[in-house]
Formats: sequence, C-alpha cells, structure tokens
Amino acid sequence: MSENKKVYFFSVKGSEGNKDMKDLLGGKGANMAEMANLGVPVPPGFTIATTVCKDFYENNGGMPENVQLQIDEHLERLETEQGTKLGDSQDPLLVSVRSGAAQSLPGMMDTVLNLGLNDVTVEALAKKSNNERFAWDAYRRFCQMFGDVVMNVEHHEFEKILDAVKESKGVEYDTELTTKDLKELVSKYKELIKEKAGELFPQDPKEQLKMAIEAVFKSWNNERAILYRKINNIHGLLGTAVNVQAMVFGNMGETSGTGVCFTRNPATGENKFYGEYLMNAQGEDVVAGIRTPQKISQLKEVMPECYEELVSIYKKLEQHYTDMQDMEFTIQEGKLFMLQTRTGKRTTKAALKIVVDMVGEGLIDKKTAVMRINPNSLDQLLHPMFKVEAKKQATILTTGLPASPGAAVGKIIFDSEEAAEKKILGEEVILVRIETSPEDLIGMNAAQGILTQRGGMTSHAAVVARGMGKCCISGCKDIKIDYQEETLTIGDKVFKKFDFISLDGSTGEVLEGNINTEEASLSGDFATLMDWADEFRTMNVRTNADTSKDALQAISFGAEGIGLCRTEHMFFEGDRIKAMREMIVANSLEDRKKALAKIKPYQKEDFKGLFKAMGDKPVTIRLLDPPLHEFLPHEEVEQKEIAGELGITLEQLREKMNSLVEVNPMLGHRGCRLGITYPEITEMQTEAIIEAALEVNQEKGLNIVPEIMIPLVGNVEEFRNQSKVVKETANKIIGDANLKYVVGTMIEVPRGALTADEIAEEAEFFSFGTNDLTQMTLGFSRDDVGKFIPDYLNKGILKDDPFQKLDQTGVGQLVEIAVNKGRATRKDIKLGICGEHGGEPSSIEFCHKQGLNYVSCSPYRIPIARLAAAQAAIKNN
Ligand code: ADP
Ligand code: MG
Ligand code: MG
Repeated sequence: MSENKKVYFFSVKGSEGNKDMKDLLGGKGANMAEMANLGVPVPPGFTIATTVCKDFYENNGGMPENVQLQIDEHLERLETEQGTKLGDSQDPLLVSVRSGAAQSLPGMMDTVLNLGLNDVTVEALAKKSNNERFAWDAYRRFCQMFGDVVMNVEHHEFEKILDAVKESKGVEYDTELTTKDLKELVSKYKELIKEKAGELFPQDPKEQLKMAIEAVFKSWNNERAILYRKINNIHGLLGTAVNVQAMVFGNMGETSGTGVCFTRNPATGENKFYGEYLMNAQGEDVVAGIRTPQKISQLKEVMPECYEELVSIYKKLEQHYTDMQDMEFTIQEGKLFMLQTRTGKRTTKAALKIVVDMVGEGLIDKKTAVMRINPNSLDQLLHPMFKVEAKKQATILTTGLPASPGAAVGKIIFDSEEAAEKKILGEEVILVRIETSPEDLIGMNAAQGILTQRGGMTSHAAVVARGMGKCCISGCKDIKIDYQEETLTIGDKVFKKFDFISLDGSTGEVLEGNINTEEASLSGDFATLMDWADEFRTMNVRTNADTSKDALQAISFGAEGIGLCRTEHMFFEGDRIKAMREMIVANSLEDRKKALAKIKPYQKEDFKGLFKAMGDKPVTIRLLDPPLHEFLPHEEVEQKEIAGELGITLEQLREKMNSLVEVNPMLGHRGCRLGITYPEITEMQTEAIIEAALEVNQEKGLNIVPEIMIPLVGNVEEFRNQSKVVKETANKIIGDANLKYVVGTMIEVPRGALTADEIAEEAEFFSFGTNDLTQMTLGFSRDDVGKFIPDYLNKGILKDDPFQKLDQTGVGQLVEIAVNKGRATRKDIKLGICGEHGGEPSSIEFCHKQGLNYVSCSPYRIPIARLAAAQAAIKNN
C-alpha cells in the first residue's frame, strides 16, 4: 500500500485493513476491520492511521493537508454507504470519533459519540426515529462529551448540572428524565460551555468533526495516558489512531441497550460467557457505573435472538483469534452490532487457567501457552494469601463483587494522592472510593487493594486493578463513604481513615482489621504451566538463599540448586554478631582465631541445614564479602553498649571503627581482599563448609559436592592465593574420606572478566555477580543511584534501570568476553549468574544466548525465571 495512504475504510462490504495492521490502525481499528471482514455486524467507518498522530505533533498540532483530503474522501464514502449525510437537515449522519492505539490504554484516551448533532439535526433525528426523547438524550450526551473532551470543560461540571436537574425533577436515574428535561439540560450545557470555554458550542458538524479528531490526537499525551504508559512500561508507540464510525444507538428505548462481554471470565479464567449490559443506555454507561448493570445471562431472557447471535459471534471471534476476547456491543431496536473486540485483560490466575484449558481444547499448543504468559505477571500469584484459620475467625463486614483476586491488608485511605504519599512512607494502604476514574491511577498503583461502592465487574476500578494484578472489590453497595468526614460506614460500624481493613478479592469479602496472610504455593494450572515450561527450557534455575527456610521455599517453587549463599547474612543474627564483632576488634591473630572458633559452629550448623534442605542439588557458598565496618554499630548508644559487651572502652571501639572507615567501601577492603589479609577467616569458613558436607553426606547418605566461591576476584593471583588456603584447609579435613568439592569465583570486577582466560586456569566455575559488575562497569554507586537514575530514566538517557535489567550493550560485553575466554581455557567450565538480573526476563534471555548453564535468583522469582528461560529457549531456537 502506498506510503501516502493514511486513512483506511472498514465495512462488512469489505475493509482496507485487518487484524495484523495494529501498529498502523491501532488495536481498535485493526480489529474492527477484521470483524467486518469476518462478516460480524460492525457499523462502517474509517480509521486515521497512528502515523498521522506523530505527524500531527510534529506539525505543531495541525492536520497535514493530504490527510484532510483523505478524510473528506472517506467521509463521502461513508455517507454514500449509509445513504445519509453529515449535517443533513432531513437525514443526518451521526458518527463516533474514537481513539485507539496499537496497545490498549483502557479509558485513558478520549472518545466522542453522537457527533453531527446540532439544533437542526436533533429535530431531524427526532422525526426520523419517531422518538423525540431519544434524539434529545443523544444531543445532551453529545454536548457533554464534546464539551469535556474537545472544549476542556470539566466532566464533573456537567455531572453537577445533571444531578441538579435530576434532583429538581425528583428522579434517580437518567432514563427517567423527560424530553423537556433533556432540552433543559442541553441549554444548560451550552451555557456552561460558553461560560467556561469562552466559546460557543460549534453548530457546524464538519467543524465538530475536525475539532474532535484533533482532540483525540491530543488525548494521546494527556496526563493519565502518559502515566498509564509509564506504569505499564509501554514505549515506542507512534500514537493513537482515530476511528470515525457511523453511530448505532443503545438509547432508543427498552429494546435497545449496550454492554461489555468476555468470552471467558477475566477474573478466574472459567470458560463461561461473561459480561454485563444495560438497557436504554449508551456507550460508557456500563463502565461508568451510572446504573447497576445486568448480568449477560439475563439478556437470554429479555432478547433471546440477540443473545443467540451474540453467543455465536463470541465463539467465532475466540476461535478466530485463539484467545480470550473482550468485546463491546450495542443493540439498536433489537438489532445487534459489535463495536470492539480485543484480547481481554485478565488476572494471572485467569491467564493460566485459560491457556491450560485452551491446550486441553486443542485450540492452542503447549508452546503457545508457554509463550503467552508474561513471566513477570506470575509475581501476582507469589504474593501472600489469607491464612485459612485467620480468615475463618475474621469478621466479614460485607461482600461486594470479586473484581480482581488476591488478599490485601492495609489502612483505609480515601484519596488517591494521599494513598501514593503514604505508600512512599512505607505504609500499606487500601484505597476506598465511591468509584474510580482515570485520575485515581496513581492511588490504585500505590494501594494494596481497592474497594469501591459503585461499578460492576467491568467498571474502571475492576479493569485497571486486574491489569495491575491488584486485589479489587467493586460494587460494594452496602458501604457508605463520606469523603468530607473521611469515614467508611458498613452497617453500624464506622471506620476512620487509617483504620485497618482486609479485602479478599477472590470472594469479594470485606474483612475487619488486619488479617494474617501466608505464603503462596505452586499448584493447579500454575504448576501445569511450569511443567510445560520445563519441557522447553535448557538453562537450569537456581536460587539465592542463605537459610534452609529460604532454600525449602525455593525448592517448592522448583529451584534446582543454590547459586549463591551469602555467608555473611548468617552473621547478623543473635549471638553470632557478637562473636563477629569480637573477631573484628581482635588485636592479635590469637584473639581473632579465638573469636572465629566461636563463629564456626554456627556456620557449620547453617551449612548443614542448607545441605540437608537441598539434598543432592548443587550448593554454591560464597566466602565472606562485605567490608567489616558493616558489622559494627553506628549509633552512639549502641556503641556504648557493645563496647561493654566486648569488654573494651568506647574509645577503643571508636578507634577500631575509625581504622575501618573507607571513603568508598564498595571498592574497599572486602571480598577476597579480606581473606588475603586474614586467611584465618577463609580457613574457618572452609572448615565449616567441608565438615558440614562430610557430616550430612554421612548422616543422609548423600553425595554433596560443595561449590566454594571466592568473591571479587580481578586478578588470577588473588584467586590462587585464596584457592590455596581453601584447598589446603579442605584437604586436611577430608584426608582419606570421600568428598569432592570445587572452587570457583564470582566474575564481578571488570578486570576479572577481561582476564577470564587466566582466571579459568584456576577457577572451576564462574558465577556472574552482575550487581557489582554493573556498578563497576558503569561507575554507578549502587547505594547512591536513587539520586539520579530517575532523572536518567525521565530524560531518556537510560531506557531501563541497569540494576534491574542487565545493560546488555555495556556490561553484557564483559559477560560475553568472560564466557568466551573462560571456555577457551576450560572447555566445560560451569557458568551461571547470581545477580538480581538472574530473575529478570530480558536478562535471562541474554544469559540463554550466552549459553550459561544456570541463572540464580531469589526464591520468589524462581517460577518467573523458569518461564523466562523457557521463552528464551523457544524464541532463540
Ligand atoms: P474506549 O477505548 O474508552 O473503550 P471507545 O472508543 O471504545 O472508547 O468508545 C466508548 C464507548 O462508546 C464504548 O462503549 C463504545 O462501544 C461506544 N461507541 C463507540 N462508537 C460507537 C458507535 N459508533 N455507536 C455506538 N456506540 C459506540
Ligand atoms: Mg472501548
Ligand atoms: Mg559482589
């Protein structure tokens, strides 16, 4: 197609686009074209490409001339197909002007309905439809939407007027307003627009169309759309497309309506048609929660033929797209029209059930199932759930709709900004709102869970919460919220701001107080998908664990070994820290050895615990790494106390501490440098490891092969020095007994990577310590990056935080060099990664490409790593 083609027609008579043109037509436009091509009833229209949005911004908010020409041509074609004309005083064409980017940003951008109405055409519409009330209902909606979206008069100003009119007429719902009331509303709305916008509401439909198209382009960069893209990490889109489409009306009376439906349940994944609708309603009414919608099953009773047709369409669409679909429909006087279909957002729980079911149904294969789950989304399932016992004893205050599953506990907050502030202070909060709107995004993002009084399962709160993987209860009718007083009333109980409540998003139950939660486990569909992932993956997945508790948790998530045990983490607990401090303040070798002798039994017990937990699985133990000052107290009160415990004066302790002060401790006396200065520390740790392995092998009949890792090596001589200490110590203990062990290193100093060929002559394995390697390669102090990384990200200097996603172009080169040089010297050298990056999907893919043997990550990221490793293997096969 020609590069100059910017506008694409869609119609059941044939479309110029299709579902594979999302980048150009946006998801909404591409799928409307596709549905029309499939013969699904879609009102005709045309799509202005996303590339125009980009041009529009580059053109300082003006429509390029050639595009305007194409718009005019396509409008004529639409008028011909419909046999009506925009602005015609007898038979006016009305259109919607809809946003829609390549990825959906639900509710974040703007849409205008009923465009083409003015003081003349409204009369024509009344006559033609023989329904004056409907025509004026459409007109008042148009004035409001146009005023809000295009003329920037705030939405709530219109709502205020609507509420006042409803109150003065003594009615509760908009459907009860008469034609006369609606006429009154229109004139009040026009007044409001004139007053607030300083301009008259435009009567010329061509002018209306032009303004609306431009407004939709502008909505691409409104605050909430920008925030949504940021939160959801959506980069690199061209902009939004604009869809101009013939209107169909759900507000023509009791045989008309509008609804939202899903081919399967988006909260649980259950394979059952699911949705909500409202009779005599238009557009967003269901989502906005103006009246409580009906369940879709109800439609079967009310309009059986429409329902049957809807069922056959949803089945057709799901088969065609081979994925769960989220659809919008409108019924105009008994005739069904589809207005949107897209891949439905779902909770992770639902996502897993859906792919597992679809493999069972033969709709997709295992590989597709494995590729379809976003590894990071598994995080949702690894969060705590309520303890069964605690839940049983909890007081159920009331029940709302189970809009998004999970357990959430926190303090009640009514305001989104405040929720975000509290979150920054480390408080866990529950956002409690009458309903949510896109302005609440910031608070929803900060909250543990969301509770709303209004809105159905497809309300804004529900949809956004599911997308965020957050617990949400919507439509909780029995609660009363007073924003002024900041109270939440349920029955006769009144809760104030900061009181604790708990939400069970899987059942919709609101619980009193702070209910205990427990760790998640891997079972059901989750376990099935993990097994499938393991069929494809070629890298092993190990865990970083320091205690047997962590190790057991990791095994339950599928860990195949320990990639990093940080021995110093064991030093901080209880009596051990005291022995450690004695070691540090010791002034002679003899005193130091005495203190080390006290530490050793603890270390040995810990290692035995780890070995027992891991059985035959490999365990890599790193020798002491951090600088010693980290073990000493920094507060004066504590210093006094500790000096007393150690039997020295405060001055002596201070003197010792002064001697340990370093300007840049992360590049200071740490890692193998400690063992080089104090070989007795290396000896003690080696003894503890080897004795523990010997004893556990004996007790359990195992064949453990400890992997001893020397940290922070940049020079093969450092490694030689420490490896000699390790080997001499180990061999002395082992004697004639049968125990194998290996000695390797962490590659985390750039020089270590560059001279990996030399190091591999001595080291039997490498584990990439990408936290330090990133720090030293970028020259970014990891403890200080918080001060500037946000600016780097905002200003686009960095695309991602290099401590979260491995910097493949920079740090990655060092990894590649070390892999190649290491293997050149020692062909079968075992290679792994143990930095934070070992649990991050894009970094895992990089490791796969480098041919690493394993990745190691924290216990809770093990399932994520298993899935990411499988996807890397599939993608790079
Ligand atoms: P969003 O992306 O926020 O869902 P949409 O463009 O889908 O916005 O439109 C908002 C609402 O208006 C939806 O409920 C949609 O079904 C309805 N709508 C859009 N275009 C039409 C139309 N031509 N006729 C009837 N209803 C429409
Ligand atoms: Mg929509
Ligand atoms: Mg390190």
